[in-house]
Amino acid sequence: MWHKQTIQMIETLEMRVTPEVAYVPLRLQAAISTRLQIDVNHICHVKIVRRSIDARQRQVMVNLSLKIWVDENPSEVDCAPVCPVYPDVSDGRQAVVVGAGPAGLFAALRLIELGMRPVVLERGKSVEERGKDMARIARENVVDPDSNYCFGEGGAGAYSDGKLYTRSKKRGSVEEVLRTLVCHGASEDILVDAHPHIGTDRLPKVISALRHTILKSGGEVRFSTRVDDLVMEGDNVKGVVTSDGSIISGPVILATGHSARDIYEMLHRRGVAIEPKGIAVGVRLEHPQQLIDRIQYHNPGGRGKYLPAAEYSMLTRVEGRGVYSFCMCPGGVIIPAATGTGQLVVNGMSPASRGGKWANSGMVVEVLPEDLGEYSDAGPLMVMRFQEDVERSFYDDAEGSQNAPAQRMRDFVDGKPSASLPATSYAPGIHSARIDKLLPPFIAGRLQKGFADFGRKSRGFLTNEAVLIGAETRTSSPVRIPRDPENLCHVALSGLYPCGEGAGYAGGIVSAAIDGRRCAEALAAACR
Ligand SMILES: Cc1cc2nc3c(=O)[nH]c(=O)nc-3n(C[C@H](O)[C@H](O)[C@H](O)COP(=O)(O)OP(=O)(O)OC[C@H]3O[C@@H](n4cnc5c(N)ncnc54)[C@H](O)[C@@H]3O)c2cc1C
Repeated sequence: MWHKQTIQMIETLEMRVTPEVAYVPLRLQAAISTRLQIDVNHICHVKIVRRSIDARQRQVMVNLSLKIWVDENPSEVDCAPVCPVYPDVSDGRQAVVVGAGPAGLFAALRLIELGMRPVVLERGKSVEERGKDMARIARENVVDPDSNYCFGEGGAGAYSDGKLYTRSKKRGSVEEVLRTLVCHGASEDILVDAHPHIGTDRLPKVISALRHTILKSGGEVRFSTRVDDLVMEGDNVKGVVTSDGSIISGPVILATGHSARDIYEMLHRRGVAIEPKGIAVGVRLEHPQQLIDRIQYHNPGGRGKYLPAAEYSMLTRVEGRGVYSFCMCPGGVIIPAATGTGQLVVNGMSPASRGGKWANSGMVVEVLPEDLGEYSDAGPLMVMRFQEDVERSFYDDAEGSQNAPAQRMRDFVDGKPSASLPATSYAPGIHSARIDKLLPPFIAGRLQKGFADFGRKSRGFLTNEAVLIGAETRTSSPVRIPRDPENLCHVALSGLYPCGEGAGYAGGIVSAAIDGRRCAEALAAACR
């Protein structure tokens, strides 16, 4: 039967196979041996280079790009990613990195590669300590303004789904970031999957490994160290002032994320140029995951034994504004993402297995500064003030501060109260409320029409089995800190590198990490 003569060789192969073949190694080897017409015993190693699920047809298929070693073993380089080398920078020039989110951590690592010594200042606690404060939010309804789902080591993405896909077209930079994550403990699957994700249960280990690399190389990471001010000499930023009054000197990468409102206030007070930026506002929508599996995989039986929890992505335009799903978390939970008192903010996260009972996503409407005329007195902080107002209107002290307003999906579209609510993953609890009235009318109306459109495109999606929980407001930064596109310095101040999502130059873990690396490169080049 095996008529092809085998000689030592490496084959590359594109295959389109059923989920069972894709996810069961022995079945895949058998399929490869049939395709190459060689005995299975000649296959020494199979490396999956790329894997994507195609659920457009009734029979869901998996597309694979494979590298196959026939009668030959792969070298070490073929099996493990090449990791960056981090030199000892104990005596290197000092740079200040404010914020230990993806932008700050990747900026620090890149500074080290370039021979500089980063001092990372983080207002929150280490990723290990932070977990306890998050548990308190659900248990006691207490939000620590320096340690919560947005603030602390790892930043806003530490307790997330850890989705690592990005719209960035810079393939090399994306791979660099993914490889660095694998070198610090993330699964190699993220180098392969079209929609890679790490999972909130695995992220803390990776983040703490990143910190250990910074420390081992002679860099510093200081927790519970909030930056309150900049040290400025004329148009030059020379360092920062921390909450205990200490001055830390050096050029500054400001990577404080989209929720550091005190930083925007400080910049505005100090007369540093900042601009209002559009955001997106809406709710978290939660369906039973089984329902999403049935819809997305066109199978009344659900996802079966081999397929992962199904994802979805929805997008439409209503009256000139985008209405879309955001940060979908298959098998995940909805979490309280406020950073202070008097705010009700929700977001979502999933474990690596995505094995939970629910599927959630942000369902949001694009909001532009020109939609917010009545906030124009707030100048560059106008979008932030609007965001604060929405969060305050969802907050209800009488219900217990993080207990969230909720409405069934079809009731929301029909403008009706929900007499009962379904079970939910949101640990602090939900209460029935008129979300169609709590949201500003220009958002509620577009969301209602958007949901009706999604229901037409995807049968079964618009249902009272799904519940809306609000508000989803921290979708991106409400402020842009303008910087020179060439040297990445603030447009009016040298020595200040606005960076990552908080500065308005990233949206997600990978793009923030890429921006962190770019800022580090620009800073190091200016310091030469
Ligand atoms: C719950 C949740 C889930 C998410 N899920 C995903 C996902 O699956 N995939 C994805 O790509 N993106 C996700 N995101 C978005 C993603 O987390 C952000 O885009 C990303 O973290 C931005 O990185 P950053 O480093 O720019 O800012 P951040 O991650 O926000 O980091 C900023 C850091 O600065 C610190 N800081 C703030 N102010 C100060 C100060 N004054 N002094 C010192 N330190 C300060 C903060 O504590 C924080 O650690 C999620 C966000 C949330 C909240």
